[in-house]
Amino acid sequence: MHSGPTLVHHGLAAALALGLVFGASPRVAAAQNAQGSQQHAAGAEHQHGAGHQHDPSHHAQHHGDNPIVIAIHGGAGTIRRGSMTPEMEQAYRAKLEEALRAGYAVLQQGGTSLDAVVAAIVILEDSPLFNAGKGAVFTNAGTNELDSSIMDGATLRAGAVAGVKTVKNPIRLARAVMEKSPHVMMAGAGAEAFAAEQGLEIVDPSYFFTEARWEALQRAKAQEAERPVLRDEEEGAAETDAGARSLGAADAAPDAGAHDVAFPDDYKFGTVGAVALDRYGNLAAGTSTGGMTNKRWGRIGDSPIIGAGTYASNESCAVSATGHGEFFIRNVVAYDICARMRYLGLSLQEAADQVVMQRLVEQGGEGGVIAIDRQGNIAMPFNTEGMYRGYIDRDGNLVVEIYKD
Ligand code: ASP
Repeated sequence: MHSGPTLVHHGLAAALALGLVFGASPRVAAAQNAQGSQQHAAGAEHQHGAGHQHDPSHHAQHHGDNPIVIAIHGGAGTIRRGSMTPEMEQAYRAKLEEALRAGYAVLQQGGTSLDAVVAAIVILEDSPLFNAGKGAVFTNAGTNELDSSIMDGATLRAGAVAGVKTVKNPIRLARAVMEKSPHVMMAGAGAEAFAAEQGLEIVDPSYFFTEARWEALQRAKAQEAERPVLRDEEEGAAETDAGARSLGAADAAPDAGAHDVAFPDDYKFGTVGAVALDRYGNLAAGTSTGGMTNKRWGRIGDSPIIGAGTYASNESCAVSATGHGEFFIRNVVAYDICARMRYLGLSLQEAADQVVMQRLVEQGGEGGVIAIDRQGNIAMPFNTEGMYRGYIDRDGNLVVEIYKD
C-alpha cells in the first residue's frame, strides 16, 4: 500500500528535568477546514481561524479516503499547574498551535509528511520557549550542542546530526543528510561543514544564548556541587518523585516550584518533535533538541538516534520521543513501539502504552512520545506530569494540551 512515495518527495539527569506540565484541559481550539485545499496548490492560503467548523464533506472531497494528520510535542516533564503564569502558558499554547497549523497547511496543500514535519519543527526551533534551536539548553562547558533526526516512513531513509553548534535549524540539516548525502548520521564539525556546503543557515554560537537557559545551567551546577554525579539507574530511582533534575545533579530539588515560576521549563525535557501522515499515505517523524542541561563529555541523547528518539515506517507507525535520553536509547523506544505493532499486531495506542507506561516506568525512565499510524490514529502517552503536545486529527480537529489532566 505504498502509494508511490518517491513520486511525491520534494519537496542530563538531569538537566532539565522536568517540569511542569501545564495542566490544563485539552483545548479544542478550532476545527480545521479543508475548504479550498487543492492538491499541489502550493502557496494557497487557508483561513484557519478559531471557530471554524470542520466540514467532513470537504475533507472527503479533497483528500479522498486518505486522512492527513499531524502531531507535535515540545517536551515532557514535571509541568505543574500553578507553576506557570497564564501569560507563559498562553505563549506555549500559541506557539504549539502555530507549529501545528504550519505543518497542517503543508499537508493540505499537497505537501509530503516530511515537508510538514520540517515546517512544524522549524517554528519550534526558532522559538526560545523550547529546548531546540534558539532555546537550546547549555552544556556544562557553557556551549549549546544540538541534535536532530528525521525519518521517511515510505522509504526508511533517515538523516541525523549530533553536537552541532552553529546550525540554526538542525532539523533541516538532518533532512539534508538524508537527501543529499550517502550517510545517515553526521556529528560535530563535519556536520557543520556539510551544512555550510548545503547552503543552510549558519549562525554564530551566541545566537543560542538565552538568559533563562544560562540561569538554568547555573542552578544545575549549584545542585551538582551539593550532590555527587550518579549513574542513570541511581538517578532514576532517586528521582522518581522529584520535580526536577539535571544531568549529573541528582538533587530532587524540593523547592523546584520556586524556580518554575521564574522559568517554567527549567525542569522539564523540552525537546521538540513532529509526526505526520500525508495524503499519499506516507508517514514521517522528526525530532530536535538541545539535549539536557549540564551535559558534558560530548553526551548525545536519544533524539538523533534513529530507532530511539525517532522512527517512521509505513509498515507500522511514526514516533518522536522526549524524555531522559539514556533510557530511551537503551529501550530503543521509537522502534520498539513500531515493532510491537508489526510483530504483536498491537494497536498504536497499545504499543505506545506498553513501552512508555510500562517498560520505561519500571526502569524510572521519564518521558513520552507522540505517535501516529497510517490510519491516522494518534497516541501521545507520557509518564511525567505533563507534555507540551498537540495534534490536528483526521477530522480536522486541533487540540493543544500541556498537563496530564
Ligand atoms: N531526550 C532528550 C535527550 O535526552 C531530552 C528531551 O527530551 O528534552 O537529549
